[in-house]
Amino acid sequence: MLEYVMPISVFRYFEALCSIPHGSRNTKTISDFCAAFAESYRLEHWQDSANNIVIVSPAAPGYENAETLILQGHLDMVCEKEAWARIDMDRDPLELRMDGDFLSAHGTTLGGDDGIAIAMMLAILQETNIPHPRLECVMTADEEIGMLGAAAFDASRLRGRRMLNLDSEVEGVFTAGCAGGCTVLCSLTPRWESASNAGSALHISVRGLTGGHSGTEIHKGRANANMLLGRILREASGSAAVRLVRVNGGMKDNAIPVSADAEIVTPEPLGVRRVIEQYADTLRREFSATDPGLSVEATDSVAVMCMDAESTKRIVHFLSVAPDGVQSMSADLPDLVQTSLNLGILRTEPEAVTASFCVRSSDAREKSALVDRLRSLTESGGGRRGKSGVTGQVRISGDYPAWKYQPYSAVRQLCVEAFRDLYRTEPKIEAIHAGLECGYFADKIPGLDCVSFGPDLLDIHTPRERMRISSVQRVWRFLLEVLERAK
Ligand SMILES: [Zn+2]
Repeated sequence: MLEYVMPISVFRYFEALCSIPHGSRNTKTISDFCAAFAESYRLEHWQDSANNIVIVSPAAPGYENAETLILQGHLDMVCEKEAWARIDMDRDPLELRMDGDFLSAHGTTLGGDDGIAIAMMLAILQETNIPHPRLECVMTADEEIGMLGAAAFDASRLRGRRMLNLDSEVEGVFTAGCAGGCTVLCSLTPRWESASNAGSALHISVRGLTGGHSGTEIHKGRANANMLLGRILREASGSAAVRLVRVNGGMKDNAIPVSADAEIVTPEPLGVRRVIEQYADTLRREFSATDPGLSVEATDSVAVMCMDAESTKRIVHFLSVAPDGVQSMSADLPDLVQTSLNLGILRTEPEAVTASFCVRSSDAREKSALVDRLRSLTESGGGRRGKSGVTGQVRISGDYPAWKYQPYSAVRQLCVEAFRDLYRTEPKIEAIHAGLECGYFADKIPGLDCVSFGPDLLDIHTPRERMRISSVQRVWRFLLEVLERAK
């Protein structure tokens, strides 16, 4: 259906990609499709066991002495569909729909993120009369589930030291830096005893928060349900003898939690309830602008076991002093969060209370300093000791590197000038407080100079995802202009 949509070659390849199921972890077929494409055009290429593929295009005449340029995008897409959609996204092609200037898929994600990047690369690779330097087109797998392809990628065969990443979603905005991050799981071991002598049980619930993405929305000052719970418990413990039974909250470490629950035991349930209700008023006023739906409730409950006084003190202390939210702002770019963290998940098991933090920073040293801070906080809070007797309280996982914003970048400057000349307006330069594959490439390729852009994609990662066709047309023309100038 897209055979008459300009640029014809780009949309022809995009439609072909949409006929191959290519959700994350299902990228072998699409990677092989690209390998077969490279073979049919006799282009140098290599694939790896992670399904990443690199296809090389030799320099066009006149560009023999120009430096190699890397083009990069990811092969996989997020598979989301409406409840009514019958399609099996592991097997069936997407059903494309065109509505005015928008392309979408019926009842599912479109995978314009990042299929349009792959389509543009294939369209450039098949053409012999596009002026450009030697190109290394790097197509990675499994970006959407933790950048697994980029993490596994061996960059030593690449000659390029400058790169255009084609995985940004707002036309006219150049991304020039991203955060690195990791998940820090802190475990605190409680000691348990019978609750029968400790008084009556109360259930405390925090509900109705706004929540949001722990990277792109961390600066909005929204309340974190787990952190509020810590403050409420500290307030309650200051007014009477309180024993903790459990604390639980949040679903994902990269989402600001919208609800949390605690169970406590106290000999003065009426007094403690009053304190909690008063403190709830304070919190509602504090967060009236960001979290108008906030509610805190304390109700009667039952408990068989509870933590001893010392364990309760340690864990409440940990929750009330743990850092959370924005820690520092960038000195280079206005409004860019440099370092933040989010206490996303709080869980109580018989062996341990665990707190899972999503840490992000565009500065590697600040990131490790923050991780160290969580480590000493956990240790001073009497974290779990490993079997060997060594303190093993903090576990770090999912570590990914930052791409630090560079005040000067030759490849970005090239793009800015091309943009200015084509559109007679200035592009926006931004760095983001979330991860991009550029972080891995900047980490693996010393001195890599990089910039990221792409056409307008709306509501990505949802069945409402749609791509602006006129934006693809402009970005395609812009990309060709940049290639021509990349002497
Ligand atoms: Zn993407």
